[in-house]
Amino acid sequence: MRDETIAIHAGYDPDPVTKSVAVPIYQTVSYAFDSADHGAALFNLETEGYRYSRIANPTTAVLEKRVADLEGGVGALAVATGQAALHYAFINLADNGGNIVSVPQLYGTTYTLLSHILPRQGITTRFADSDKADAIERLIDENTKAVFSETIGNPAGNICDIEALAKVAHRHGVPLIVDNTVATPILLKPFEYGADISVHSLTKFLGGHGTTLGGAIVDSGRFPWTDHAKRFAAFNEPDESYHGLIYTQQFGAAAYIQRARSVYQRTMGSVLSPFNAFLLLQGIETVALRVERHVENARKVAEFLQNDPRVAWVNYAGFPDSPFYALVQKYLNGQASSLFTFGIKGGHEAGKAFYDALKLITRLVNIGDAKSLACHPASTTHRQMSPEQQRLAGILPETIRLSIGIEHVEDIIEDIDQALAQASSQYTQPKAAE
Ligand SMILES: *Cc1c(COP(=O)(O)O)cnc(C)c1O
Repeated sequence: MRDETIAIHAGYDPDPVTKSVAVPIYQTVSYAFDSADHGAALFNLETEGYRYSRIANPTTAVLEKRVADLEGGVGALAVATGQAALHYAFINLADNGGNIVSVPQLYGTTYTLLSHILPRQGITTRFADSDKADAIERLIDENTKAVFSETIGNPAGNICDIEALAKVAHRHGVPLIVDNTVATPILLKPFEYGADISVHSLTKFLGGHGTTLGGAIVDSGRFPWTDHAKRFAAFNEPDESYHGLIYTQQFGAAAYIQRARSVYQRTMGSVLSPFNAFLLLQGIETVALRVERHVENARKVAEFLQNDPRVAWVNYAGFPDSPFYALVQKYLNGQASSLFTFGIKGGHEAGKAFYDALKLITRLVNIGDAKSLACHPASTTHRQMSPEQQRLAGILPETIRLSIGIEHVEDIIEDIDQALAQASSQYTQPKAAE
């Protein structure tokens, strides 16, 4: 099936008892066992079924199947937030002494997780000085457990050459994890280019309406864990926390995602509520349509900004002079993301004045809502970084990140136009002749 159809149907047939057409919300903690033996088989992971909603839930399972099918993976684990998904995705591979090699352009909280939080648990991250494959390759060593990048960096807007990153990771026996939140599987399917695991904040375009937090990890099922048994002992040796089960033997291609569920979701419990899974499923039904309109509106807004003398620069990957233009053609079918940055003339103060003058476009930290949104990273998401770290992450003092929504594009442009007028009258007025 194609994306539009998967987004509406995958993972659910009207349930045989009620014939409910909408996915039911299974608001339950537990599931009855037929017998002691049935309970034992469930606990041994020998039979499929549900036992306790911290581990799996039927509503959430539909969401997991739908996201896995959109990405073309063997399985997915849905969790409470995108951050929880990233955390599990990393610790499912790396523990004390392990390292992750990452591109520098990351979502602010992910950067904090990797640079400040995981090191306290002995997991370090080596940040490359660019998102280029050779910069990544130089940092991989025998303790590297994953290479990490965002497919489209939030907020920098860089597009990673996934195929090149996968190639260097695989050359060293390491999987590539990508955060595919900004691209969505509608614009990009990272497994087609060699990524092994993808992570999503479902909070953004997939949910699509700014109502619901959620995250997912998707497993391509293609990484050969058994070929790298020493580096990935946890997948190849008996798990004492799970009566000696060996994940690669028990689950084959789905070893990674099953271990994420059986170890981390079970014991750490960043669980998505079934109600939130239902809301996210509602959003996903229209994701293909929405992304199409997001992309189309963003192009028009970017063109407006590019032609405006009050604007200093526009970092929109769909312009032929963008350093990412070729990658947009290769990976995004020519469709640049609706998330992009620009800078107004007049620097930090003018950027702030523009931001404060917006009326329709909401000032906040979020992306991928039906509504148009704006963020000033230097004063919010990236304020914990030094100016040098900000620059490496692709953020300048005046940078405004726009997430263009699906309102009528003329209304979006009119709002930007009036905010530019206000900001530039304050900060870039030509000096009167002496
Ligand atoms: C929002 C976002 C996250 C975090 O997701 P939450 O659902 O807010 O926890 C991670 N990565 C990217 C690229 C994001 O945009």
